[in-house]
Amino acid sequence: MQRSRKRLAVIHTGGTIASRPSPDGRGLTPQQAPSLTGLPDVEVHDVQPLNLPSPHITPAHMLELAGLITALAPDHDGVVVTHGTDTLEETAFALHLLLGTPTPVVLTGSMRHAAEVSWDGPANLLDAAGVALHPHSSGRGPLVVFGGDIFDARTVTKVHTTAVDAFGGYPGPIGRIDRTETAAHVRFFATPEQRQTYAPDSLKARVDILYAYAGWRGEGYAGARAEADGIVIAALGTGNLPAELLPLIAKTRQPVIIATRTHAGPVLPVYGYAGGGATLVQAGAIPASFLNAHKARILLLTLLGSGLGKEEIRRIFGEAGF
Ligand code: ASP
Repeated sequence: MQRSRKRLAVIHTGGTIASRPSPDGRGLTPQQAPSLTGLPDVEVHDVQPLNLPSPHITPAHMLELAGLITALAPDHDGVVVTHGTDTLEETAFALHLLLGTPTPVVLTGSMRHAAEVSWDGPANLLDAAGVALHPHSSGRGPLVVFGGDIFDARTVTKVHTTAVDAFGGYPGPIGRIDRTETAAHVRFFATPEQRQTYAPDSLKARVDILYAYAGWRGEGYAGARAEADGIVIAALGTGNLPAELLPLIAKTRQPVIIATRTHAGPVLPVYGYAGGGATLVQAGAIPASFLNAHKARILLLTLLGSGLGKEEIRRIFGEAGF
């Protein structure tokens, strides 16, 4: 049905875009959700399920958010989610795995808070709304809009701790929004791969991430193996580890996912020395392809929460175009 006014749901979850210096002088805290201004012809419905700094966001929150978006989407032409930038890419990727709605969903935030003269929140929010309501945004999965760039949820990552253009990732934006006095100009350069979605019962499994370094002899691995349902390792280069890790991984019954601590490129099992990627795969480890460690963890949580076993998990990491 064609509505006379477009309807936009704006879901606020906290983050710097909602933050100001706290009155007790302890530093910035989320306080007031930002208002969308500049779109007088759009009917905006603000919803605030959370008001958290994004380091406090958990996978359980992501699942709740997916449920809320699924409920709101049929009545709206677009959905915007405001979120702290620190874990924004994890929430975006969880939504990429969970949401089946054709209604565009766009995440944004800000790097500067509302009491700063250079607050980037209003422009990012306006841009996110412009993309969420654009007719070409549907069918691309959840998107992230920041500094005028449009990213897909699978590849976007936070690349700077303070810069206003804080998001990037390989291979980069899939589109751009720019404004003139009279209009917003949205251009897409790419359509993300078809994605598979999942309906996990929960995202409550325990998946630990371990970070590899020169001279790592497996410190921390035994604890993860004893307690966790799965392990992700941010490994070296194309997915290699020191030799000491090879026997530990060979003895692990839970899924062990090998991602890379390098910021771009795939995990490829090419090296045959002890701990080289080929030997890790022979020992049962699963390469994460292009997913960074924290997104590989979100995928593993989703697959474990969907009741899938190790071989199915291996197949999905290998074949699902990640
Ligand atoms: N630490 C803040 C958060 O992630 C940073 C931000 O919002 O950009 O909530």
